[in-house]
Amino acid sequence: MRIAWPHMGSLEFVLGSVFEELGLDYVLPPPNSQRTLELGARFGPEFACFPLKTTLGNFIEALEAGADTLIMVAGRGPCRFGYYAETQRRILSEAGYEFEMVPLEFEPSRIPLTIKRLKRLKQGRPWASLYRAIKFALHKAHLIDRLEQQALHQRWLDRDKGATTEALKRCYRLVWEAGSYQELARAEEEAFALLCSVPQVEREEIRIGIVGEFYLVLEPYFNLNVEEQLGDLGAYVERNIYLTDWLRPSGERPVLGHHEHASERLAAPYLSHKVGGEGVFSVGDTILFQHLGFDGVVQLMPFTCMPETIAKSILPQVSQHLGIPVLSLVIDELTGMAGVATRLEAFADLARFRRRTCSDQRGLAPQPAF
Ligand code: SF4
Repeated sequence: MRIAWPHMGSLEFVLGSVFEELGLDYVLPPPNSQRTLELGARFGPEFACFPLKTTLGNFIEALEAGADTLIMVAGRGPCRFGYYAETQRRILSEAGYEFEMVPLEFEPSRIPLTIKRLKRLKQGRPWASLYRAIKFALHKAHLIDRLEQQALHQRWLDRDKGATTEALKRCYRLVWEAGSYQELARAEEEAFALLCSVPQVEREEIRIGIVGEFYLVLEPYFNLNVEEQLGDLGAYVERNIYLTDWLRPSGERPVLGHHEHASERLAAPYLSHKVGGEGVFSVGDTILFQHLGFDGVVQLMPFTCMPETIAKSILPQVSQHLGIPVLSLVIDELTGMAGVATRLEAFADLARFRRRTCSDQRGLAPQPAF
């Protein structure tokens, strides 16, 4: 059994670490590329969500590299995400690939089924080893989330453009190589020291929050490195979701520091029920960012995403009521880097202008109700 899964931000550190720990064979698809996108767009239905196509491209490349078992996270709300695994299984089978698709669902009601599937995946390894491997991998992922957050908070101060990004890449390596809790503690110390050693200069601060569909928020290649671009434009950046926050069924978000329910409460005057995916959180966290004194919010929306289309139709009202600029970026296979870069540049200028003109009112901003 050669197992593979699609790329999504730092997910490869979590799953890679689990399989390494258990000594199981796995295949990492080649890094995301134009080819990944072209394969996904060629085999995927035209009006499918953008992430279905990109992850389909990953699967095809993984199968070409020798994988025979594909893992897909599934479930989470009434949107098309729950159907990805089955849709992709059918597309790939019709295209002539031979493999087994294993959907993993983390909603509480689906846990028994997921346990059954994990039993097959662990190939006779003891449950205790699997538990230990997952626990350790989640520790690694949580550390990566905090390192990424630190990078988002400091990139705008880089004296040399790209220095924080380079340091972060070295941090990933340190975390990946840690094979025990002791080594992970050392890697944590070393990685934060590395990030903090990046030379900085003083700049006028602007703060921009990122909300949107989780895959697009977490996957830098397909969101056209929005976080990095904003940082290079001089923005302190925060995103509303991190990988381990998203994996947590309890809805707690320790990295960002607030519970999903807080976001739902904030969104309630505009959107009082769940619409699938992250629709409610895109609205609630835009309000949260305004309460926290941010100067603008970028919403990342895959083309044809239902929950984010709903959020996008509400966000202009939120923006008008609260006086916070919101930029909605709709991304698909035809979106070009130059167009996004121009829009982000104009948006950063707008946020800067807002900060200068609204600085008096900032001190009066209400605090978020966590
Ligand atoms: S959240 Fe949006 S993009 Fe993601 S699966 Fe649901 S509809 Fe598709």
